[in-house]
Amino acid sequence: MSLQFESVMNGFVGDCAALWNGWKTLSPVQREAALARAVTRMTSFMQAPTVTFANVSGWGSFSWSSWTLKIKRSYMAKNDIRYKDFVEVCSTAYHETRHAEQFYRIAQGLCAGALKMPDTSGAQLVQSMAPSGSVRARVAAYQAVISGQNPLDGDAAAKTRVIANFLNVPISVVQHADRMRDYFSNYVSATKPAWFKRATTLDEVNEWMRATYKKTYSELDGWAQGPDGPYKVYRDLPEENDAHGIEDVLQVRVYMRCGNDTPANRKKPRTDAVFGP
Ligand SMILES: [Zn+2]
Repeated sequence: MSLQFESVMNGFVGDCAALWNGWKTLSPVQREAALARAVTRMTSFMQAPTVTFANVSGWGSFSWSSWTLKIKRSYMAKNDIRYKDFVEVCSTAYHETRHAEQFYRIAQGLCAGALKMPDTSGAQLVQSMAPSGSVRARVAAYQAVISGQNPLDGDAAAKTRVIANFLNVPISVVQHADRMRDYFSNYVSATKPAWFKRATTLDEVNEWMRATYKKTYSELDGWAQGPDGPYKVYRDLPEENDAHGIEDVLQVRVYMRCGNDTPANRKKPRTDAVFGP
């Protein structure tokens, strides 16, 4: 499963349409719960992110260090939410959740041995194993490095910890990815989405990893989506190209499933008679 697969996308689109239809009968808290449930449902193949609603300035954000999605709260309280704003809320949830999947895929690829951490020397690997504590383990790791082996081979606990440190994500995410590491080959051999810029899915995941690797050494630990978000304009970033690519497809489908899609209707509120009770 993946957010780029038809079945997962269709499931979420169906949940969005149900939310749109029931909007007027649901309280703001019930609407939030419904959207959060939809996110949890579509991420059953990976570690599901925590979904929160807050008064953010943009549409939403994803923080990988806390594995948390933040969605703009104000629209959820509006009985008269405009059609296009509703669709934007839904597609933002999908976009931000896709960032979570990007990290999950990188972790899965690293656990499977299909990806290699960039520019990581043996000494750095040994260093990042330090929390494991024992002097003996570090000596063994050091000896592995000087004899040209990967010190993480055969030490599953150290491997997941190093990857979690490297990606700056919760260890539980990497442990999940490690349990599911054999599925990475299914992911990279599945049909490549049209919006991917690289020749293969494996190349694409490699690109996400390289962009991420640069980021974890800066102050950043989250993406923000919206007018004030720093990444909205950077579609040439590989992870943003992907998240926007999947979001564009999703938007079209939500409009199709909800129906009544005309340029004029997109500006109308949910309370307009055209959208029914
Ligand atoms: Zn983004």
